[in-house]
Amino acid sequence: MKHVLVLGGGAAGTMAVAKLCPRLPASEWRITVVDRDDEHHYQPGYLFVPFGTYGRADVVKPRSRYLPEGVDLVLGEIATIDTEGGAVTLADGTVLAYDQLIVATGTSPRPDQTPGMLGPEWRRSVHEFYTLEGAEALRDALAEFDGGRLVAHVSELPVKCPVAPLEFLFLADAHFRERGIRDRVELVYVTPLDGAFTTPVAAERLAGLLEARGIAVEADFVVERVDSDAKALVSYDERTVPFDLLVTVPVNMGADAIAACGLGDELQHVPVDPGTLQSRRYPNVFALGDANDAPTSKAGSAVHLALESFVENFVQHAHGRPMTHAYDGRVNCFVETGGGKALLLDFDYATQPSPSRYPLSAIGPFSGLEETAMNHVGKMMFKWAYWHLLLRGRDLPLPAGTGPSGHSAAGVAPRLDAGSPAEGAAS
Ligand SMILES: Cc1cc2nc3c(=O)[nH]c(=O)nc-3n(C[C@H](O)[C@H](O)[C@H](O)COP(=O)(O)OP(=O)(O)OC[C@H]3O[C@@H](n4cnc5c(N)ncnc54)[C@H](O)[C@@H]3O)c2cc1C
Repeated sequence: MKHVLVLGGGAAGTMAVAKLCPRLPASEWRITVVDRDDEHHYQPGYLFVPFGTYGRADVVKPRSRYLPEGVDLVLGEIATIDTEGGAVTLADGTVLAYDQLIVATGTSPRPDQTPGMLGPEWRRSVHEFYTLEGAEALRDALAEFDGGRLVAHVSELPVKCPVAPLEFLFLADAHFRERGIRDRVELVYVTPLDGAFTTPVAAERLAGLLEARGIAVEADFVVERVDSDAKALVSYDERTVPFDLLVTVPVNMGADAIAACGLGDELQHVPVDPGTLQSRRYPNVFALGDANDAPTSKAGSAVHLALESFVENFVQHAHGRPMTHAYDGRVNCFVETGGGKALLLDFDYATQPSPSRYPLSAIGPFSGLEETAMNHVGKMMFKWAYWHLLLRGRDLPLPAGTGPSGHSAAGVAPRLDAGSPAEGAAS
């Protein structure tokens, strides 16, 4: 009996075991998922919590409900990974040996990495929405905010869902207009990038949307510290950005256990081959979703678009055969722009977002780079699809179509041709 150990039962771990379970005979393979608790969070829903659209019940469900029968769930904090010996130790001392390891521990906001961020203003005038607790605290702060300077801020890239802070600003703009106080609110976007986003085409489009809403951009701002007394962000080149309400995206880092065993890079993400998602150092270790360093967006859609090729490769690898598929880096992001509209960004390692229609090139119904009500419907339907289809290993009910690079809508290239990712295609 061989053992596949999956670290993390979030989006990637859960979707992967749902697809792998029917492909690995139970007589030969045992599958175990480890996570610290039994709460599965739909993180894309955090964006809507500060505006009261979603509450806790929309975004949290029992993890165990979504794991296929026959998969063991072990609850505990992952403490150390022995990549040479093939074993993982939990904080309570439990040791779990493995033949194949799938790291799916995601990436998490780390406000402790920026001096002053966790100071006296934390959860008072300094907020984040990358945790449920943070999004709920921000909801209360927004309700009390009657005017002043609201700064949305990205500390460092990569972060998961890099468009989320922009979406927050677009929704905040609409929210303050609805409350009739938009003229009393100054909205500012502070980013370490030289523009609104990573890919030049998307950056130009998003910059236009920010400008149209009167949202100022402070670019090339690498934060050094948060000055709580002055209520200001301070950069390494000594610029300051004052705020009345700061909505920051803290540095995102992978699990500490990844750093401790030498499996990760400086942000504790696992370096992988971008086509197979196999660790560059250990052939029996794969890293899925936000936990890896693949040069595409860290997004739930990247997770499910990578799965088809990953599962084919993993099954081949588990049976000692060469892997013959490659993930092409495909990701699609519906970007909420407020007022019941959204924009679609659809790209991969090699291709920039384009104005093409998705999934059918002639009729869509979704439109790349265009603000439409249908794109907003796509964004809001994702929650239903996540809980009811994707976590259970079912495919989206979309007709077959093509992605930006001409590959199938599933984001899988037929042969291993990962090549080198396009410069700056995403982050
Ligand atoms: C505000 C926000 C908005 C977003 N919007 C979108 C969107 O619109 N579209 C989209 O596609 N994506 C979006 N995302 C990104 C998406 O949620 C993530 O890319 C996705 O959840 C990644 O899945 P994952 O399994 O890699 O990580 P996660 O879902 O974070 O799962 C990681 C799991 O590992 C567990 N874990 C970690 N460390 C340990 C440890 N030491 N011991 C035990 N367990 C551990 C965690 O408990 C967790 O369950 C958004 C994210 C945020 C925060």
